[in-house]
Amino acid sequence: TNKVQHLPTMHLRLGMQGWHDAATGFLLFSLGTGRRIQYVISKGGSEALLQALTTTAQTEPLDHSILLPLLRLLARVGQRDRKFGLKVQKAEATDTILSLARRSLGHHLHLTHCLWVLQVCASNVTTGTTLGINGAMELLFKVITPYSKRHIRTVRAAIEALAALLKSSNRRAVSRGYLGGLLRLYQDWHRNDVSNNYVYIRRGLLLCLKHITNIQLGRETFLFSKGMEILFTSVQDCLSCKNLDPIINTVIQILRKCYPKEPLPVATVRSSYSFPLPGNAKAEPPCEGSEGDYESDGEEEAEKDLDSEEEESKEEDYDLETDVNKLRSKAVLDRPEEELGQYKAMCPELSHNFQSLEDRTESLLSAPSHSIPNATSVKHPNYRLRNQSVTEMGPDPGEKDFKVPRQSWTNKEIHRWDQTDEKRDIAETAQDAHSCEDPARNHVLIAGGSLDCSDIVTNLLEKHQGDIPFHSPHFYITRAKRVKSIPDYKDLAFPDFWGHQPPPYSKPMLERKYGVQRDKVLDDVRRLIQPDDVIGRTVFDLDDPGAPGCLTFFSKFESGNLRKAIQVREFEYDLIMNADVNSNQQHQWFYFEVRGMKLAVPYRFNIINCEKFNSQFNYGMQLVMYSVKEALQGRPRWLRAGHDICYYKNHYRCSATAGRGVKGNFYYTLTFSIKFPHKDDVCYLAYHYPYTYSTMMSHLDILERSRNPKKVYWRQQTLCQTLGGNLCPLLTITAMPESKKRDDLEQFCNRPYVFLVARVHPGESNASWVMKGTLEFLVSNDPIADLLRKCFIFKIVPMLNPDGVINGNHRCSLSGDDLNRQWLTPNSQLHPTIYHAKGLLYYLRSIGRAPLVFCDYHGHSQRKNVFLYGCSIKETLWQAGCMVDTAVITEDVGYRTLPKILDKVAPAFVMNSCSFLVEKSRESTARVVVWKEMGVLRSYTMESTYCGCSHGLYKGLQLGTQELEEMGSKFCLGLLILHLKSLPCSKKVMSQAALLLDLEEEITDRTQSCSNSSQEIDDEPPCVEEVDYNADSCSDGEEDFSELDQEIQEYLSWVEGKTEDDEVTMRDSYKCL
Ligand SMILES: [Zn+2]
Repeated sequence: TNKVQHLPTMHLRLGMQGWHDAATGFLLFSLGTGRRIQYVISKGGSEALLQALTTTAQTEPLDHSILLPLLRLLARVGQRDRKFGLKVQKAEATDTILSLARRSLGHHLHLTHCLWVLQVCASNVTTGTTLGINGAMELLFKVITPYSKRHIRTVRAAIEALAALLKSSNRRAVSRGYLGGLLRLYQDWHRNDVSNNYVYIRRGLLLCLKHITNIQLGRETFLFSKGMEILFTSVQDCLSCKNLDPIINTVIQILRKCYPKEPLPVATVRSSYSFPLPGNAKAEPPCEGSEGDYESDGEEEAEKDLDSEEEESKEEDYDLETDVNKLRSKAVLDRPEEELGQYKAMCPELSHNFQSLEDRTESLLSAPSHSIPNATSVKHPNYRLRNQSVTEMGPDPGEKDFKVPRQSWTNKEIHRWDQTDEKRDIAETAQDAHSCEDPARNHVLIAGGSLDCSDIVTNLLEKHQGDIPFHSPHFYITRAKRVKSIPDYKDLAFPDFWGHQPPPYSKPMLERKYGVQRDKVLDDVRRLIQPDDVIGRTVFDLDDPGAPGCLTFFSKFESGNLRKAIQVREFEYDLIMNADVNSNQQHQWFYFEVRGMKLAVPYRFNIINCEKFNSQFNYGMQLVMYSVKEALQGRPRWLRAGHDICYYKNHYRCSATAGRGVKGNFYYTLTFSIKFPHKDDVCYLAYHYPYTYSTMMSHLDILERSRNPKKVYWRQQTLCQTLGGNLCPLLTITAMPESKKRDDLEQFCNRPYVFLVARVHPGESNASWVMKGTLEFLVSNDPIADLLRKCFIFKIVPMLNPDGVINGNHRCSLSGDDLNRQWLTPNSQLHPTIYHAKGLLYYLRSIGRAPLVFCDYHGHSQRKNVFLYGCSIKETLWQAGCMVDTAVITEDVGYRTLPKILDKVAPAFVMNSCSFLVEKSRESTARVVVWKEMGVLRSYTMESTYCGCSHGLYKGLQLGTQELEEMGSKFCLGLLILHLKSLPCSKKVMSQAALLLDLEEEITDRTQSCSNSSQEIDDEPPCVEEVDYNADSCSDGEEDFSELDQEIQEYLSWVEGKTEDDEVTMRDSYKCL
């Protein structure tokens, strides 16, 4: 208020008389820092200067010794004053400045000064419009000349003023036909400025073009005037010169913006796969709008973009839950209490009768699981390997007979499923594989015929058996046969069948090549400018199979996702991902097969319908590739692959209706180049290390057999059937009781629960690899695992969204819902896995056995490292800036213990990346619901990066499956330490632990309350190259105040050194400063 009261006095005191004093006062800041100028602005400096300008301009003759320094001051103050436009309007100074400029047309020094102020005024939309209407543009065009070394600074000032003016007067400029003129001017300067002396002039002209093309009319005129060709051709001369980056970047921005927008080249953006939902549930996503509305919503693209990003960051804080009542845990029930009884069957450990512990193995396993029953008939699997025609397939008698009526499974049926069928099938498959003599069946493993002998493959398969720990191709086939998918998969992807072995080395993150993005964008633009080599042929289409091409693509297998491939040029393909089933979005996960490649040729692939506005692909992440030839030569592995990788916004647009209220209307391109390791190989490319449902199921088969039944209590049940008719397994793992003594049996029953779930988001395969590590550790012979099993009963749902995983979704289930947003009120029909997982948790709570730890494994696509999200009332309220009455709100800080432990024991884990804030938008996630409704203090989401680590042992490296699995096992170690630190332990356990772990420090260091939320934001630092994922980057320096300041300074020192007559007045006025 003080400042406001000051203003009128400042105004009053400034007349002609006061000006000189004021000018002397302003001398200080004319050379001073921006902060000093801000102070002057806050004291009414802009108003004073504007008033002084009006007064000075009215005197006859003009006193340039006052006027010129005044104009310089105005330019410097005005550009920093956010309300300058408003003040100019109030002072009605636009006319004054325009008429001063007109009067100075014959005098370049005076004119330049006027143009600086004009530029600052024009930067404001309203003032700019007024200036435009009053003829500023015409005036400026009189000053701007074709290439000439005369009055270069005046021309520069005029061009920069014009660029500012065109932010608001672009429509006017286009309709007056100025766009063509600007293009010709640019061409002229570009052609003649061979020594690159006038880069700022060329860039100024480009900025004019950039602003003029902010409107659709501008873009159309630009295209019509051959603007794309002119700029594209001109920029080729600049690419080799690093000093010309400002020009290159601006050209590329214009080219990207003006590239005609198109809908994605698919008939509909809706998923190729749809699934009829039970009951009246609606599966239809909002229908798409009519064709042709792709341009209209891009009118002011640049501005819109910035807005949406700002909104996102603003939302974050706004999103925090600040209602204390909502943050407090609540024991509510979303279903009738009597329903909980059914989950008793899922806790067989609590009612197990260990009568005969001598042969406890048998007592636990109601069927002998390790003796494989002999099958009387050998069935052919209903799967063939790729390229086998259907007629080669044997009939599949038993398979289709097995049907579980939806939602009507009983324990008996599960039992039957678990124990009998599965074992029989495994046996059959094993026999199948060994007696497999049909050459037609196997030669398809490799295209091109180099390994077309089935014997080789059979031999390899035999040799290969057991090579990869915890993987069996035979088990895989058995499991895959049972999978129910919407496309009704008939093929197996080789990597999943054959297996993956992590390479013996880690791969560093990819170093970003300088200028990779602009090279790729220019290559994209070349499609338009030089279409001669554009093929534009669809070579793969889920919706319309049978279009052969140079490379052959395929994706109809478990977890596969590729909808369409278009050959653009000889070695370049545009790829389109399929939307999630029953959805028109969620394009991120891809997994497909490609064959028929040449050797040593880099193929460029563009995945053109990505949706997120940034990606780790811009920060060193590579995709993964699996080569069948490599696998058969003994290197069966997914490897990080691809170079020249970058991620940027492209020219495809979602129609307004289809994209409404979702993610905005943009698509992004992920581009990468690959040199395949072999000629005519069969390779698989994926977003991340695939891990299918069948992989998980066969992994469980192996785990069950590999465990020591005397030590490991293992029970695999079915949580429920999914919408798509697949079974969702539930595991119980703990230690067998020490003896049948009462104490031991009691200890067995009273172990606290740990509840783990994973893969609710199908595209987050990293979560499954972490879960794989957890499971293998839990059943292992490691003495730590042994101890851990004695401490806890583990309830694990390793895949909460089998249907999504099977059908190649990225985020949703078959109902098109994000299952991790359904925990508040899951629907038993539409979200059965969530409904029953929650039911089981309710049951545990109802018997007083809510888990000590709940953790939901996820993958994170935007950040590095592995970290936890947890829930804290206090941290949330603090972060939101709410007053926290510590007397009223008490909170156990125990939720921080586990992440702190993991920070020490797990190399990929970073405590500083963790967050314990409760956001409103997350209120229906597993973590928040389990925390609130089940009262679980340690309820977490574990996020694993798709990329790599920025801290610790793995700093700079991309994570492989080995590191992910290690994370899973270290998580277990963390749980053991948590137990030792937080729960009363028997002396025996403690002494065992002391032997195994170096726990001195760990245990004595009791959890200190770590109340200050010292969250470090580890967002990505800027890239070497400006990551221009928005069509309009805000980095072209227009907001950089120093630029105009410098221009003014340079001018003054240049004038200083001049002795020409017409500059005398200038020197005088300069000296008077
Ligand atoms: Zn997730």
